[in-house]
Amino acid sequence: MIRPHLHLHDYVEPAATRAAATVLLLREMDGALEVLMTQRSPTASFAPSMYVFPGGVVDGDETFEEAAVRECMEELNIALDHGALRWHSHWVTDRDMPKRFDVRFYVAPMPHGQTPVADEQEQFRPTWVRPSDALAMHQAKQFPMIFPTIRTLEWFTRFDSVSAVLAACEAQVPHWSSCPRSGHIAGKPHYFMEHDSPYGELALVCPDGIKRHALDWTHERAVPLLKHVRRLTCGNPSMMTGPGTNSYIIGTPETGFIVVDPGPYGTYDLSTPDADQAHVQRLLDACRHADGAPDIRAIICTHSHPDHSPAAAPLQALASGASQPKIYGMKHLPTSRPHSEFSPDVQTKDGDVLTLSGGDLTITLRAIHTPGHAANHVCWVLEEDGLLISGDHILNGSTTVIDPPDGNMTDYLQSLDKLTAACEQHDIHYILPAHGHVLGFAKDAITKLKAHRLGREAKVKKAMEAMPDLALDELVALAYDDVNPKLWPIAMRSLAAHVERLKTHP
Ligand SMILES: [Zn+2]
Repeated sequence: MIRPHLHLHDYVEPAATRAAATVLLLREMDGALEVLMTQRSPTASFAPSMYVFPGGVVDGDETFEEAAVRECMEELNIALDHGALRWHSHWVTDRDMPKRFDVRFYVAPMPHGQTPVADEQEQFRPTWVRPSDALAMHQAKQFPMIFPTIRTLEWFTRFDSVSAVLAACEAQVPHWSSCPRSGHIAGKPHYFMEHDSPYGELALVCPDGIKRHALDWTHERAVPLLKHVRRLTCGNPSMMTGPGTNSYIIGTPETGFIVVDPGPYGTYDLSTPDADQAHVQRLLDACRHADGAPDIRAIICTHSHPDHSPAAAPLQALASGASQPKIYGMKHLPTSRPHSEFSPDVQTKDGDVLTLSGGDLTITLRAIHTPGHAANHVCWVLEEDGLLISGDHILNGSTTVIDPPDGNMTDYLQSLDKLTAACEQHDIHYILPAHGHVLGFAKDAITKLKAHRLGREAKVKKAMEAMPDLALDELVALAYDDVNPKLWPIAMRSLAAHVERLKTHP
């Protein structure tokens, strides 16, 4: 749990929600699935002029199903049987809206022999539409819809029959339960569900969902995530580094600062030739005491890879003044590649602790040795706030490469288990990766990551059993057939790690 006073903004309690129910009435026309939509009144207080599915608030002691049936009659003169309803999904209105609903979305086949007639009060223009057509018209700005409607329709594009949809909803368990969050990209609001990659960052920075956090990547300034945690992304974006390497700046002018992963130095995938020097200077500028003097107390490298550790020495040289920061991390192992050599001033061991304190704030960072991506990889936990700084072991928006022999798949999976245990021990909810936005739902994210790896391994195993003599470049086409072939040369490194593991743990 984040200490509440360290959030950037004061928390504002979102408006209370009212229970509501919505029905997606379905039919088939010319071999395609269609759904019934209506346009809301331009004077409606919620979602005016938007195309929606019929529905409304739950009255008195009605059930959700009873409300759905009643609204179909009131709004469209359609007599529906309770038994025909299947629960599809659960949406809760965004936290920043003045009117909020807790809505069950149902599906039902359109009853035979009935015709929808709009009440012309709340609902207009009953329209049967193919989900893909509605989405295309929305793209063309001819069919206004709100985010939950769009995401719901996207789910339906995979079906072409009513019976297939009903079968998929047979369990009466919602396919998702979501309260979307919005952030700004290029100054415009964009909306995200819980499984979308920026969701965790929006939850961390704006828990109440009122303020709009900008998700745009910038190399020019440190982005505040909490009062004592900032991220400065280096100007080294690439296929391997995503938006660039994230350096985390932990601390305040009162506590002094710790910099995690200062980044590349030298000509490593830089957007401009001096992006590395500019990054080091910006790190220094972001770590100043109230009197203006640089105050870096420690420099941490999660691992020795060339996009993480080389800037440690130049930053240390620049920062040397009143405080002489030491470089912490694990020395590279003999298995590392030549460009990944790294020798810290202080050799970090599993469980080591670094602390900052000043004013009324204490910050404790604890090391967790997590071999797998690199043999000398160390994650760090900010214990008081349950934050995991994951280096390259866990990324957001891309999959980390396991490159043998320094990378090892069995170690990687065991380290994930170690991080799961740390999540429980330290009540960790957020992961700060070296590439990509903050991840939320930390424990679930790790569980999914492990399942993804094991799923890939099962594919590799199956292909190896079917055709034992395949070379790696043939095997990659089978085991990574769902991945863009452009990425296969990189995927082959992780594939080698899977093959190595399968040979030792058949
Ligand atoms: Zn790395």
